[in-house]
Amino acid sequence: MSSCIFCAIAAKQVPASIVYEDELCVAFMDIFPMRPAHILVINKRHAQYVHELSATERAHLFEVGHNISQALRASTFQPAAIHFNINDGKAAHQTVPHVHLHILPRYQGDTARFLAGALAKPLLMLKGPLKRELLDQQAQEIRKNLR
Ligand code: 5GP
Ligand code: ZN
Repeated sequence: MSSCIFCAIAAKQVPASIVYEDELCVAFMDIFPMRPAHILVINKRHAQYVHELSATERAHLFEVGHNISQALRASTFQPAAIHFNINDGKAAHQTVPHVHLHILPRYQGDTARFLAGALAKPLLMLKGPLKRELLDQQAQEIRKNLR
């Protein structure tokens, strides 16, 4: 099995709640979500940094992220806004060394909850991942709104 958890997900060596997949990319639910409907989009080919991706891979990653964000907007999660975020290196809090685009819903007046979620993340990770059933339900809701 790959030593990179996201390569292992792309190779279906470990389970993930997949929202979308094509020849270059896969999008799946974050297993320790900061908020419900926290999605990650990755290139299947391993690269730690954005500058290690080809121009085609970079463009495709963002295009898939855009499509996912539109599905998220159309879903019952109904975000007021969306973060598109890449932590590109350890000093930028990259914890999984395989480029990934976070798609994270935001709501009016949710700053306190959002910051609390970020601060509590290490505790949440100790508690363990979100239930697969719930992640699968969220993935299905977003997937059915993909155009
Ligand atoms: P980073 O801090 O590197 O930008 O984000 C890595 C993300 O990957 C975190 O939000 C974390 O919750 C998520 N993550 C870590 N391990 C796994 C895993 O095994 N499966 C899934 N689906 N997400 C993971
Ligand atoms: Zn990898």
